[in-house]
Amino acid sequence: MEGVDRRCPTLCVPRLGHSGPFSDEPIRAAGRSAIVTGDALVFDAERDHLVTGIGHNQRWMTEYDAVVVGAGPNGLSAAAELSRNGRRVLVVEQADEIGGGTRTEELTLPGFAHDICSAIHPLGVASPFFRDLGLDVDWVHPPLPLSHPLGNGRAGVVLRDVGATAARLGQDSERYMRIFQPLVTAADAVMEDFLGPMTLVPGNPGSFVRLATRGALPASVIVSGFSSPEARGVLAGLAAHAIAPFASPLTGGVALLFAVAAHAYGWPMVRGGSQRIAESLAKVIVDQGGTIETSRMIHSLDDIPQARAVVLDVMPRSAIRIGGDRVSPRDRRRLSAWKTGPAVFKVDWALDGPIPWSDDSSPQAGTVHVGGSWEEVARAEDTVHSGGHPDRPFVLVAQQSRFDPTRAPTGKETAWGYCHVPSGSDVDMTEAIESQIERFAPGFRDLIIGRNTMNATQFEAHNPNYIRGDIAGGGFGLRKVFQLGSTAPYQIGYGLYLCSSATPPGAGVHGMCGYYAARAALKS
Ligand SMILES: Cc1cc2nc3c(=O)[nH]c(=O)nc-3n(C[C@H](O)[C@H](O)[C@H](O)COP(=O)(O)OP(=O)(O)OC[C@H]3O[C@@H](n4cnc5c(N)ncnc54)[C@H](O)[C@@H]3O)c2cc1C
Repeated sequence: MEGVDRRCPTLCVPRLGHSGPFSDEPIRAAGRSAIVTGDALVFDAERDHLVTGIGHNQRWMTEYDAVVVGAGPNGLSAAAELSRNGRRVLVVEQADEIGGGTRTEELTLPGFAHDICSAIHPLGVASPFFRDLGLDVDWVHPPLPLSHPLGNGRAGVVLRDVGATAARLGQDSERYMRIFQPLVTAADAVMEDFLGPMTLVPGNPGSFVRLATRGALPASVIVSGFSSPEARGVLAGLAAHAIAPFASPLTGGVALLFAVAAHAYGWPMVRGGSQRIAESLAKVIVDQGGTIETSRMIHSLDDIPQARAVVLDVMPRSAIRIGGDRVSPRDRRRLSAWKTGPAVFKVDWALDGPIPWSDDSSPQAGTVHVGGSWEEVARAEDTVHSGGHPDRPFVLVAQQSRFDPTRAPTGKETAWGYCHVPSGSDVDMTEAIESQIERFAPGFRDLIIGRNTMNATQFEAHNPNYIRGDIAGGGFGLRKVFQLGSTAPYQIGYGLYLCSSATPPGAGVHGMCGYYAARAALKS
């Protein structure tokens, strides 16, 4: 594997000098823990990545308390929680690098660092687990969390301050304050309850009821109380994160939750790229003597050493296959009913300059929701859910290099954008996505100097958890949110746990699925 010095018997040192976020200390700690198995855990300084664990030809010589399959943010969070509670942990990952949905690579041109999947982390910065762990990343907060261009120089915006956001909404100002101010005031309690398994009795009944009464509603009902195009546009973009038609129950809750996160915690990116989240979690694991192995696909429990707990950061069908007889009949039935949701088509751009948005707000926003009015965004999402490809898709755009100069050479920019498409789609949406951006930023196309696209099939090849291009751990709905048919959604058999985004609270980089699965394992 690139970056690995196989000659080094005990401690592998970085090839090109060490300039990354790790000090030598965790590398040494990792080396020490890996000496037990006769090889080393290595840090590739050229790419600032933690790349590998023990050698593939080694025989397992030690017993682990827990084996975690999959080094996405949830698998790594599960391993970090187990490690910091004194358990000896092995993490096994099929890809050549750790990170799952938090990987950053030069996808277009040298010197342009692109987040392959997750880019913006409202749920990461709000995550009770990451905060408790003291996740060691540098959150970069753009001046505006979010803008939503509407044409003719107009845009809806979400600022950090609720009052300032409401003040821009004219006749909707009072209503916005009435809905959001109490939720933002109780944001920590709100996040604790909604970033957890909904099967539990809420820890904070007051704020839970306040969000749940509105949040259970379809986004279309919530928006009907607003009349300004700005408020309606913003709510459309927020609700679209549910990847479900706006007439579906609970889509209102997704819009509320993301707005509360923006006001209370911001919508930051990570300096250096989302990969830093994985590296920071890995550091916790190796500091505690854990081991991480990459490039090893797990097909069944026979592929991993015996351990008291096996925690799977995989999708339900893989969990059934890997767990075999250890999956309880009840959980097998429940997991068999799991369904994939729609897919995404993504484009990463290397640009010759900043995106020339025609409104004043979007240049200051980390995330720009591109799709126009509520009606247009609703139509685009409905089209996807009925199996079609919208001519004018709703596009989520992130412009990391505007606020994190480490992402692109001086004077150049990166941009990241994707739209929803039907499950398994192989339709190339590049033209439709770029037309939408051009609509609100004339001259955008002229700035493109490099481009990388990924369709549903390529996403699944990148990460087996993205089945037919579904990036959300399954279709959104009551069954998924409430994990119907289960009172303990993380334990799926004797000593067997599921921790991927198919479990509550679902998609996003927050580590809470991993944390709760680890807590369940620690209790048993
Ligand atoms: C295009 C895109 C944009 C996104 N944007 C955001 C965003 O801006 N903010 C946000 O919070 N979230 C975003 N997400 C979602 C986020 O990335 C995921 O919800 C999150 O990564 C899920 O974490 P996880 O640990 O459950 O699974 P994953 O990140 O999918 O990790 C699972 C890991 O398990 C490994 N694995 C699977 N099967 C096996 C096996 N059999 N053997 C060994 N290893 C295996 C995989 O290779 C992978 O590394 C985005 C996702 C995509 C694709």
